[in-house]
Amino acid sequence: MKKGKVIILVAPSGGGKTTLARRLFKDFEELKFSVSATTRPPRKGEVHGKHYYFLSDADFDQKIKDGEFLEWEEFYGGKKYGTLRSEVDKKLKSGYFVVLDIEVKGAVNIKDIYGDESLSLFIQPPSVDVLKQRLLDRGTEDDETLALRLERAKKELTYADQFDRVIINDDLDTAYSQVKEAVIKFMNQN
Ligand code: ADP
Ligand code: 5GP
Repeated sequence: MKKGKVIILVAPSGGGKTTLARRLFKDFEELKFSVSATTRPPRKGEVHGKHYYFLSDADFDQKIKDGEFLEWEEFYGGKKYGTLRSEVDKKLKSGYFVVLDIEVKGAVNIKDIYGDESLSLFIQPPSVDVLKQRLLDRGTEDDETLALRLERAKKELTYADQFDRVIINDDLDTAYSQVKEAVIKFMNQN
């Protein structure tokens, strides 16, 4: 079977990656989600092995030592997030397009590894105020993590031009049709 390729959806937290990724999975059966590892606790409804591999600090650190991560980052009060080499490799080998939902620095690292075998889409919220409102409406953050996420978002927005395409996520349907178009074009290359 043909080896798959990597699709990176990158945005500040609350930018809309998860929402857009869900739509992609409904539309394309050749896409598979890369389940990351994290040391943050699960949110209501999140399932180990489906949304994340929820690890203890000790287990995460052991995987760092063993070289099991393609990339990893620490943020939001010491919480770690990382892309597992085994997770991506097994899906690529099976011929799938692997979708990564990761933050900016991790995305830059993944783009460096996979180069032309990857498509990176930067999902940009219309403004920081809109981003704040979306995070408030999502209802997943306390005051402290909301402030940390927004502070980080302001820096991350300056990295947009390092990615293959910038898609403004103002109206969701418009943003999704642009994501879909870019993904179809990428899947049909070669
Ligand atoms: P991320 O995965 O990047 O952290 P989410 O997909 O969870 O972001 O989106 C953050 C919140 O904003 C969610 O509650 C989602 O329903 C909402 N949202 C995403 N895109 C839009 C949009 N275009 N218009 C309005 N709300 C949106
Ligand atoms: P959340 O806590 O909202 O699920 O995720 C916080 C941020 O971590 C999001 O921007 C998400 O995309 C990012 N993230 C999730 N998994 C990974 C990963 O494996 N590596 C990196 N670098 N970031 C990740």
